[in-house]
Amino acid sequence: MKSPVIIHIPHCSTYIPAEERSKLPLSDTELEHEILVMTDWYIDDLFDFGDFNRHINQYSRLVFDPERFRDDKDEVMASKGMGAIYTKTSTGKVLREISMKEREKMLNQYYDSYHEVITQMVENCLEQYGQCVILDAHSFSSKPLPHEIDQTEPRPPICIGTDTFHTQAGIFRLAYEYLFWGEDELAERNTPYAGTFVPMKFYHSDPRVKSLMVEINRSRYMDEQNGKKLASFDEFKGKIIRFVQYITEKRGPAQS
Ligand SMILES: [Zn+2]
Repeated sequence: MKSPVIIHIPHCSTYIPAEERSKLPLSDTELEHEILVMTDWYIDDLFDFGDFNRHINQYSRLVFDPERFRDDKDEVMASKGMGAIYTKTSTGKVLREISMKEREKMLNQYYDSYHEVITQMVENCLEQYGQCVILDAHSFSSKPLPHEIDQTEPRPPICIGTDTFHTQAGIFRLAYEYLFWGEDELAERNTPYAGTFVPMKFYHSDPRVKSLMVEINRSRYMDEQNGKKLASFDEFKGKIIRFVQYITEKRGPAQS
């Protein structure tokens, strides 16, 4: 492993295998729109720098969502048809009709193998460095989508997700200080999204695994109507680079 830091990027891909696409009852235009609003566009580009390990989901979240709990009983978003395998779109239309057996098959095929890889990466970090820091990187729509639980507007430019067990004390304050880039650049903690990703093997049991979620308001770096980068994209990426270096390198990732 290149460093004890793993940047986890679960939602930036738009790839849906033909076999999975054929099971979705959406027209191409409907699917294109759903991908436009649901994808964490360019997060792999924004977080492509430095000596960090990266784990990027190669599939669209419309195939499977690795950030959801495997069992719908544990997953709050399952009530919106957005558990680990989505059955509804962001507007509540049917995305797929699926039996329990088919769902289990998809979980085996996609979800479980994904989690095996990220769990092994964390394992390797722990072996090599005695610690692991996960930066869970996302972006979000500047306007709440219909399925979202928090409909509060306006939304902040950055949301930092923390966990009582896995997020080091004081890290939000550091992130907040750093992210205070200007009058309108205030970060929020756990609003509109709460928590951060930790593989189940370590979840609330291994304090050597630290995690912090960084969610970026898409209007800061892209045109949400057409999916294109803003002209200021590279400048914005510079801020992200300095921010990640600040909280992981300068202050020490395992510092508490
Ligand atoms: Zn995301």
